[in-house]
Amino acid sequence: MHSNPQSPDGLTLRLILGDQLSQYHSWYHEVRGDIVYLMAEARSETDYVKHHIQKVLGFFHAMRTFAEELRQKGHRIIYVQLDDPHNQGSITAECLYHIEQLKASKFEYQEPDEWRVKDELQHMCDSLSIQSSCVSSEHFLSDHSIWSKVFTGRKTRIMENFYRFMRKHHGILMQDSEPVGGAWNFDKENRKSIPKTVVIPEPLCFDHDVTELASMLDFMKVHTIGNVDASHFPWPKNREESLELMQYFNQHLLPHFGTYQDALTDRSWSLFHSRLSFSMNVKMLHPREVIHSAIEAWKSDPEHISISQIEGYVRQILGWREYMRGIYWEYMPEYAKLNTFNHDRQLPEWFWTGKTDMHCLSIAINQSLDHAYAHHIQRLMITGNYALLAGIHPDQVDEWYLGIYMDAIEWVEMPNTRGMSQFADGGIVGTKPYVSSAAYINSMSDHCKNCKFDPKKKIGEDACPFNSLYWHFYHRNRNILGGNNRIGMMYAVWDKMENKEAILKQAEEHLNAL
Ligand code: FAD
Repeated sequence: MHSNPQSPDGLTLRLILGDQLSQYHSWYHEVRGDIVYLMAEARSETDYVKHHIQKVLGFFHAMRTFAEELRQKGHRIIYVQLDDPHNQGSITAECLYHIEQLKASKFEYQEPDEWRVKDELQHMCDSLSIQSSCVSSEHFLSDHSIWSKVFTGRKTRIMENFYRFMRKHHGILMQDSEPVGGAWNFDKENRKSIPKTVVIPEPLCFDHDVTELASMLDFMKVHTIGNVDASHFPWPKNREESLELMQYFNQHLLPHFGTYQDALTDRSWSLFHSRLSFSMNVKMLHPREVIHSAIEAWKSDPEHISISQIEGYVRQILGWREYMRGIYWEYMPEYAKLNTFNHDRQLPEWFWTGKTDMHCLSIAINQSLDHAYAHHIQRLMITGNYALLAGIHPDQVDEWYLGIYMDAIEWVEMPNTRGMSQFADGGIVGTKPYVSSAAYINSMSDHCKNCKFDPKKKIGEDACPFNSLYWHFYHRNRNILGGNNRIGMMYAVWDKMENKEAILKQAEEHLNAL
């Protein structure tokens, strides 16, 4: 909270960031003539990383729709388009310009989710001669005090401790003080590959024409990655459509969500996943309503939706999503530089094109380019797994994930990428690296059947590269991982393995060819 007192009379300028499209925020409870809301499409935001074209379109489309909805409710809105001749180029420059233009006597903003934006706005406010204040975004289910209650005095930041606290604190899936269903976790029932006979529903896609917006981005030379059919844009534009997507999930996908949440297949790009991360991350939906609506669906149809499905889902939102935010704010800005393994290899060019013979990677990358979406296990156990085994610099891995996904905002992207996926934080998020050989991918997917590489071979031209890279990773990082008692078994296996030299040579050849 900044406070540079001046006359409270006059206009207040309130900034709405592109990921703050929450109709439920208390700001909008009353319509006031002395409050002007500012929304801006800023070049600083389109350019700080190369984004997927669908991500830029999705944000601007939703921002424009939100501005129009507020306007129709009677709020005073200034909306600055990217191609506006008076566009100031950055969020802070835009704020300063409009404070001056309006002669505003007060500036207010909602707590940004990203460290970079928060820092810039704080600095700007420090330099203002008018009163300014930062209010809560009213979006999250945890805050610093909850984080402290769970972790003060503890050496480790284990998600499970946080999740159980959140369940009790919010009384979600609790009966008295016990977890509903008698267990906190139903992972054993939830880790299945998907049989051919299971029918996977089509993802619900909207059908918007955003060709004008796409032409504007083209005209403004915004550099993007990925593909789009701008005349059939699939992502929700507002809260109403996000609610529709949520209901679609509850009805058609939740009954199998938990069971197949770790499954991978050539048959579908989203399986039984909700695709609600974009709607939640830009705050068109509140995580509380997403959780409660799913619980309602489970309660009204317990025959088709088992406790393991609903628990698996609640864990992702009440647990992982909030936990990642806590990690981000506890460890930033240092977190952005962590590189425990000193990995320094360049990200292969084919991460940007999808042109690789490794079928699982080709599927995950191509669908990311086509849909700006991959589900969690693709991100973690296919692309992330490969990047870690291959020793790619975490900055490059972060940049790729931050650009390519519809839902990628740094507060949630970075702890997932640098922490959970790359173990670059040395074990703050995970107790051991999420790596696997081809055996895991083969057991969880149908990818290997359509691949030119053999998942069972470690050596030879047709050996799956995941196998030799897997052992190369453990071998080269023994000084860091050797003492980790969750990994001891792997080193015992490696020590007894025949052909060690040949396996390492096979991996070296693959890496040298990258
Ligand atoms: P579902 O599988 O339907 O899950 C429901 C919701 O749970 C999601 O919408 C999401 O809000 C939440 N959730 C699930 N897992 C996580 C998690 N690990 N962390 C935080 N929230 C979670 N998620 C993002 O929102 N933005 C990112 O930029 C992002 N980057 C990631 C990068 C890597 C390397 C990895 C491994 C994961 C990343 N995730 C990210 C987490 C997760 O993969 C996505 O939230 C999820 O795939 C989004 O698809 P969905 O909405 O269909 O999720």
